[in-house]
Amino acid sequence: MKLSAEFFPPRTAEGLDKLVEVAEGFRPFNLDYLSVTYGAGGSTQERTLATVKALRARGWDVAPHLTCVDSERGKIADLLKTYMDLGVHRIVALRGDIPSGMRDLGDFNFAIDLVKFIRDSTGDHFHIEVAAYPEVHPQAKNWQTDLQHFADKMAAGANAAITQYFFNPDSYCRFVNAARDLGVKGDIIPGLMPITNHDQLVRFSDACGAEIPRWLRKRLEAFGDDKAAISELGLEVVSDIGERVMRGGAPGVHYYAMNSIEPTRSLIERLRSF
Ligand SMILES: Cc1cc2nc3c(=O)[nH]c(=O)nc-3n(C[C@H](O)[C@H](O)[C@H](O)COP(=O)(O)OP(=O)(O)OC[C@H]3O[C@@H](n4cnc5c(N)ncnc54)[C@H](O)[C@@H]3O)c2cc1C
Repeated sequence: MKLSAEFFPPRTAEGLDKLVEVAEGFRPFNLDYLSVTYGAGGSTQERTLATVKALRARGWDVAPHLTCVDSERGKIADLLKTYMDLGVHRIVALRGDIPSGMRDLGDFNFAIDLVKFIRDSTGDHFHIEVAAYPEVHPQAKNWQTDLQHFADKMAAGANAAITQYFFNPDSYCRFVNAARDLGVKGDIIPGLMPITNHDQLVRFSDACGAEIPRWLRKRLEAFGDDKAAISELGLEVVSDIGERVMRGGAPGVHYYAMNSIEPTRSLIERLRSF
């Protein structure tokens, strides 16, 4: 079972030390890698790099995320070289969200352009992962074109994909079947988001287009500020999704760990024991 966890780069040196300790908590699970997000336009470039270095120094296999919107080929090439020198062999290649009002996107329009650039400039050095959207990317024209763009991105040289999080396991299974029908071969790893905070979850989900089912939204709302109750329900719901996607043939799970050991550790324990 392929397992990975995603972190975001901390803002301070103390935050980074804490994150390195959080990562140690995942050591017993033999994760395939840890991924580190990257702000669109390179806004977190230094912090992402510092986080990647700190985790590499502890021997982790790290997959830096790399967004291409508002970027230049030269800058991306330099960063790829830095990662190669650090012994990084994985990249999560993304377009990034387009800041409102931006007209000139830079040297890359879509993630597919970044995938091609990485392949052209570094050959087979990197295992490239791209993003997938079982519930359709929020800016997509429609479901079919979004799926076709995903298939094209995979065919351009990506090895595998990680999905946006979802709470409806059917959306993942249907997406994978539809992608296979278009000839997509690589792993499509479901991304699962632990539930710990109602307001934050609603905010993230509205922004990224992940649907929170009405029944789940209502139950979470009813808990108000009761964090323990939210976490307990979250553990049950997200464990159930993990189990269902694994039964549906998923090769593993990528957890949006939000820089915390819990509840991801408990979710992994439950997933491994089902
Ligand atoms: C696993 C995962 C990790 C992420 N990590 C980060 C991160 O670290 N930092 C960050 O800023 N964001 C991150 N994101 C968010 C991501 O950057 C946004 O969702 C962004 O809006 C799209 O990025 P993409 O790589 O999916 O883009 P693309 O694959 O380029 O798709 C973007 C949109 O363009 C459309 N499209 C693609 N190709 C074409 C074409 N040729 N013609 C017309 N339309 C096209 C697609 O249908 C889609 O609607 C992540 C998302 C996921 C799922």
